[in-house]
Amino acid sequence: MKHLFGPVNSRRLGLSLGIDLLPRKICSFDCIYCELGLTTELTCARREYIPTGAICDELDRFLADPNRAARVDVFTITASGEPTLHRGLGEIIRHLRKRTDRPVSVLTNGSLLHLEEVRRELALADIVVPSLDSARPESFRKINRPAREVELEGIINGLAALRQEGHGQMWLEILFVKGVNDTAEDIVALNRALRLIQPHRIQCNTVARPPAELFAKMLTPAALRDIKEQLAGPAATIVDFASPAPAAPRLPVASEILPMLQRRPCTAGDICQALGTERATTEELLAALLKDSLVQQINHNNQDYYQVPNE
Ligand code: SF4
Repeated sequence: MKHLFGPVNSRRLGLSLGIDLLPRKICSFDCIYCELGLTTELTCARREYIPTGAICDELDRFLADPNRAARVDVFTITASGEPTLHRGLGEIIRHLRKRTDRPVSVLTNGSLLHLEEVRRELALADIVVPSLDSARPESFRKINRPAREVELEGIINGLAALRQEGHGQMWLEILFVKGVNDTAEDIVALNRALRLIQPHRIQCNTVARPPAELFAKMLTPAALRDIKEQLAGPAATIVDFASPAPAAPRLPVASEILPMLQRRPCTAGDICQALGTERATTEELLAALLKDSLVQQINHNNQDYYQVPNE
């Protein structure tokens, strides 16, 4: 699979088939906590970075196999970067809506929400998961390091407009980095923005996976809980969704694992849960991939993560 990966066990959405709309890593932000590494093309240009037809064809091939399609809880449009930069976003959502009755979600950093055409496309999704890590210009620039033309006010107003115009759910995610966007001023500014936006859910997160910058440190569970209690709206910290264990774990194959590890660092446990594979043979395969330098191992928060190295 070239543009699809998983299904992976998403902490937000359950078993999710990822649809990747961009080559790695094109984004309008260069977040210090990004699990994909540093942004290589910082841009706000909307283009057809990958032919829309190629993505729809791959989806059709996936959906033609009823056994694989039945394992998917949700189709998640994401990217090795910012998915709203892809000009074919609306067409891909419409294609999915015609071909499946499973919900479609889109993850976005919100940077293009000042554009009416982007909001119109996102309004076709069942769930939009935008991020808003800070409502203060100083900490917004520090944590997200956006492209020059991105305006924080445009993001906040765009989120409020999408909430009014969209028919689906808005689950707003805030990722906190210790000492960067967790001050009392940050919380006051976030609450002002949250009252305006009124998301259906607020999901609080911290640096759970290996970040782009080593100085991006996670909050303790207690600090994250404390912030969650102060937020204006229905806030929760993100926890792992429990997926039903498959009746008989299957053997892992590299062609399924590598696309996953290209998009995000995962532990052996993440892979077993997402793909329903046996623990011991998954670890054996990871050791072989490591030996062949096809994956690298990173220790983060006392957990061993595997990922495909950047080219
Ligand atoms: S976390 Fe998302 S928005 Fe931030 S740089 Fe990475 S891909 Fe872009």
